[in-house]
Amino acid sequence: MKVAKFGGTSVANAQCISRVKNIILSDPEIRFVVVSAPGKREKDDTKITDLLYKCYDNVRYGTSVKEAFKPVASRFNAIVSELGLTLDLESEYESIRQHVGHGASCDYLVSRGEYLCAKIVACYLGWEFIDASRLICFDEDGMFDPEKTEAIASKLLGSAQNAVIPGFYGTTPDGAIKTFSRGGSDISGAIVAGAVNASVYENWTDVDGFMRCDPRVVEDSELIEMLTYKELRELSYMGANVLHPDSIFPVRKNDIPISIRNTFNPKAKGTLIVPTTRFLNGIYVRKETFITGIAGKKDFVGIAIEKSMMNSELGFGRRILNVIEDNGLAFEHIPSGIDTLTVILDGHKLSEELIRKLVFEIENVCSPDNIHVIRDLALIAIVGHGLSFRPGAAAKVFGSLAAANVNIKMIDQGSSELNIIIAVENKDYEKALNALYDGLVRK
Ligand code: ASP
Repeated sequence: MKVAKFGGTSVANAQCISRVKNIILSDPEIRFVVVSAPGKREKDDTKITDLLYKCYDNVRYGTSVKEAFKPVASRFNAIVSELGLTLDLESEYESIRQHVGHGASCDYLVSRGEYLCAKIVACYLGWEFIDASRLICFDEDGMFDPEKTEAIASKLLGSAQNAVIPGFYGTTPDGAIKTFSRGGSDISGAIVAGAVNASVYENWTDVDGFMRCDPRVVEDSELIEMLTYKELRELSYMGANVLHPDSIFPVRKNDIPISIRNTFNPKAKGTLIVPTTRFLNGIYVRKETFITGIAGKKDFVGIAIEKSMMNSELGFGRRILNVIEDNGLAFEHIPSGIDTLTVILDGHKLSEELIRKLVFEIENVCSPDNIHVIRDLALIAIVGHGLSFRPGAAAKVFGSLAAANVNIKMIDQGSSELNIIIAVENKDYEKALNALYDGLVRK
């Protein structure tokens, strides 16, 4: 039995939804479908989820709920009428407007994109609609509660034959709607797949799968046919955003493979994400390549701290990390030497004022000999299980970058030997990716 999740572009309009129906009906193994809210119909279009965020802001700034909700209602009305459905969404809109008028949360309002879309798809397929608020549980602190969800979802879904479930949200114990982070319908699909112990979790999107490198930077980047859970985490964390990186956790327990498929090119094989490269349904499959993929992101900031004898000073690292934590930040990496330590942070979460504050507080807690800020860093992860058993992997990485005259600002190799992370200047990012692709993939 399969669970299929369809992303925003796959359900962007009536024509897309009719494609989705063909895909679902052509495979009787698909029994549960999870949908996102309708996404962009063309490049400059706005996703329903973004329209809903805007609607929430407009209401806060004084626009009437009815007026603010109009663009959302008209998108859904067009879909319903073009699909020729007799579904009357007016009572749903009224209930949403009432809730918003009475101060419903932003999470509630933005979740309505997935809710209404699932209602439409269920009606169009003639399948049962099961609300995610009945299945997916968050705790009092708004953290996803996997145990409670598993118990409830497997029971509820176990007694259903076919169902359509909205992605992206669930409920807290007091009944309030809570959403995952953006792109979270991928996680909902994985939760449903885990709860029914599906043979495969199909994730239908608008690309053929994961590419070895960002195709906007490396033009003829090839498709990755098979990826492990761990490689996926590394690549998606570093910016390969085909699938939400947290989608792995719900399927990992039962070793359920995730198959990335393209709604607009259903014949393409896609990328299969598996627990291990060595075993899948009894067969050993992947032919190891030197690396599996390269991914990266720009705009990191490093705070480089230097102090003699740092290595023997008890609590030095802890005090620095406390400063980072007290300012509500998570660190990305901490490469260190004997007398130096650099904390790498996501630059998008920092203002100049916050950087000054961090520097000031770090100076106060550990009196360094020297502290300076390195801006405009890009991080690049070279990922693959193949790296671990091939001597010379690092030589190839650094040789390729040296040949392209790219200066490396930092090196970090995870202890799993699954990845090598390097930092370069933002301005060298594209050059570095192409050099690495040439040296490690094209050969
Ligand atoms: N609709 C939500 C978003 O745009 C969730 C999703 O599509 O996965 O982020």
